[in-house]
Amino acid sequence: MKLIKTILILVFFVLFSCVEKVEVQKKTNPKNVILLIADGTGLAQVSTAFYFKETSPNYGRFKNIGLINTSSASDSITDSAAGATAFSSGEKTYNGAIGVNTDSVAIENIVEVISLKNIKTGLIATSSITHATPAAFYAHSLSRNLAEDIALDLVASDVDFFAAGGLKYFNKRKDQRNLLKELESKEFVMDTIALDSFNNINDAQKVGFLLAQDGMPKMTENRGDFLENATDLGIKFLSKNNSNFFMMVEGSQIDWGGHSNDGNYVVTELLDFDDAVGKALDFAEKDGNTLVVVTGDHETGGLSLSSNQKVNQHGTEYSDYNDVNLTFSTHGHSTTLIPVFAFGPGSEEFQGIYQNNDIYKKIMKITGWK
Ligand code: MG
Ligand code: ZN
Repeated sequence: MKLIKTILILVFFVLFSCVEKVEVQKKTNPKNVILLIADGTGLAQVSTAFYFKETSPNYGRFKNIGLINTSSASDSITDSAAGATAFSSGEKTYNGAIGVNTDSVAIENIVEVISLKNIKTGLIATSSITHATPAAFYAHSLSRNLAEDIALDLVASDVDFFAAGGLKYFNKRKDQRNLLKELESKEFVMDTIALDSFNNINDAQKVGFLLAQDGMPKMTENRGDFLENATDLGIKFLSKNNSNFFMMVEGSQIDWGGHSNDGNYVVTELLDFDDAVGKALDFAEKDGNTLVVVTGDHETGGLSLSSNQKVNQHGTEYSDYNDVNLTFSTHGHSTTLIPVFAFGPGSEEFQGIYQNNDIYKKIMKITGWK
């Protein structure tokens, strides 16, 4: 009788521990994170993909969606430097700050935290690599305007892959230093002409592409498919040899279209960004271990998609509900809540309404990176 009891207890424990194992397996942490930031992009900008893209927008592939409040520590309306620092370091700071807090003290960014754990990191932008958004992921500067100082921080950083513009901040500097040489001496294979094929960079330790003097050309000026190709190449390079990775991809110029109240500029840049989102999702779907988070740092232009006002044959004004018109209310930023779209393991954590700096906290928690 005692033996039967012991056996029953043993069976119970074996069963119980099996159930627990299944539970643990379900909740495995994502091994890779791709954070895609559309600068200056609120719901109106995202919506343009659903009216103006000829194919189904990749934004439509997400199930887990939330909203963030993007206000900075200094202002109701953030700029891209404070917004990117919130994403890269988990702290709200003052407008203009790159990787420093409200006391002007450097704060650790995600690249610094995870490079120590042997996780590969990559940064892609259609601006200069020294521009506010990508800069917050490797630099510490009291002001976003100190581009040549920010370039020095890239040389000192542990970033493994980057692709953007900004060549002149590396090779036409006031201090006469040639940072391309300095990057090469730190195991970087540098290219200033065009993106390369994966086969050609496969053997490199680190790779950097600086493909314009400052910002990359606009889509309307034949940038082509740089952003989606760089996203694809970055994923292949950072995940080689089964490495885990974090990659930030920025659609930088949606913001610039908003500042200039140029609807066509906004839409062409947004559609290009949506293509890059598609590349990230294609990889994440196949991989199964990759979290994709897509958001914006703030809205630019106070954009609305309103109907065009027209006058009918009787001289009466009317709204043509079949003619969607991009109208702007400011040349600056606005503080509307910004949508967050998430896919992959842990993506349900991004539902709800929260602060922009919670994105960093959620990524670190879900991955177990910090
Ligand atoms: Mg930006
Ligand atoms: Zn802006």
